[in-house]
Amino acid sequence: MNIHEYQAKAVLKEFGVPVSRGVAVFSADEAEKAANELGGPLWVVKSQIHAGGRGKGKFKEAAAGEKGGVRLAKSVDEVKTFVSQMLGNTLVTIQTGPAGKQVNRIYIEDGSDIEKEFYLSLLVDRATSRVSFVVSTEGGMDIEEVAHNTPEKIVSFSVDPATGIMPHHGRTVAKALGLTGDLAKQANTVVAQLYTAFVAKDMEMLEINPLIITTQGQLKALDAKVSFDSNSLYRHPDVVALRDESEEDAKEIEASKYDLAYIALDGTIGCMVNGAGLAMATLDIIKLYGEEPANFLDVGGGASEEKVTAAFKIITSDPNVKGILVNIFGGIMKCDVIARGVIAAVKAVGLQVPLVVRLEGTNVEEGKTIIRESGLNVIPADDLDDAAQKIVNAVKGAR
Ligand code: GDP
Ligand code: MG
Repeated sequence: MNIHEYQAKAVLKEFGVPVSRGVAVFSADEAEKAANELGGPLWVVKSQIHAGGRGKGKFKEAAAGEKGGVRLAKSVDEVKTFVSQMLGNTLVTIQTGPAGKQVNRIYIEDGSDIEKEFYLSLLVDRATSRVSFVVSTEGGMDIEEVAHNTPEKIVSFSVDPATGIMPHHGRTVAKALGLTGDLAKQANTVVAQLYTAFVAKDMEMLEINPLIITTQGQLKALDAKVSFDSNSLYRHPDVVALRDESEEDAKEIEASKYDLAYIALDGTIGCMVNGAGLAMATLDIIKLYGEEPANFLDVGGGASEEKVTAAFKIITSDPNVKGILVNIFGGIMKCDVIARGVIAAVKAVGLQVPLVVRLEGTNVEEGKTIIRESGLNVIPADDLDDAAQKIVNAVKGAR
């Protein structure tokens, strides 16, 4: 689960991490009040969306100006102007994809004078099964680019959970960033605070880009991106409260209500499959035959007819879906349950696109009979390869 920058900073502040003072606002009037409270003389006006690269991003609407999603303001009036330009408009960044994201909240922050910008992140490293730090002097930039072009500028190490964070970790970070004296001490403290926050809140990723030194010699987290392990949310109601559903895919939210493993994708073929492995194979074979899947969906092992109906409705609600492939290998999941679920959904919402159904395994004959006798315009398929080719041809033929 992802949260906004201002929420991430509030979480980090609880652990003592130095951040700028700021106020989140939803309107230009609130922004004026916040700017007056903060006092200036420099303010940062920051679009809050669940994506990075805002500074270099561009708004779709010309009225929002040419200056991106993070702007420095030198007066209260300027703060107000920027906020009214950003609110309600669509910011496109390297991380949002071409559709962009609508800006509904803005964070007004006390502006800092920057001496240097660094990169620092923590993540769960699956190779070592530990929390790893990634540090670089090349802050404020696209870290993937740094990793690609100048990998020697990235320092990475992992923390042994048995000892937890130790002073030598702080020294490693200070050395990597070229910090000495008081700044090295500050780095040591911040490194420990970030690690403690990461573990205490079950974070999956914590990225500070940039971590800065101010001209006053203070280390500070100027940006913060945090995502939490969704499996841990049951023990963090305070984190769940930070969820902003408007940032999430409506279809994914609906699917989570039915406990369906559903991920929206960009393609045209909706997929209903049981088992994550078979679902992945189905996506692969669709691509192999030259089309793109519209979603990943694993209806799971023991799905009920109601769950299958919900899944089918979610797929058909996607306007990008030009064809549907139902691919079921019945084991614990029975083919007749799938068939009934699909038919119930089609009766409720109709079927505007070609539908290919491939059933195999438990109760397969019963399932096939139900579909045949339903009178629905279903294209039956014998195996995965056949099914993929049929749905790809049907979608291509309809274009
Ligand atoms: P991102 O573009 O989404 O990663 O947003 P950031 O919060 O990282 O801001 C982008 C850039 O804006 C930073 O790398 C800084 O160069 C600049 N910036 C952000 N806050 C301040 C500030 O308080 N003072 C100054 N001078 N620049 C800032
Ligand atoms: Mg940033």
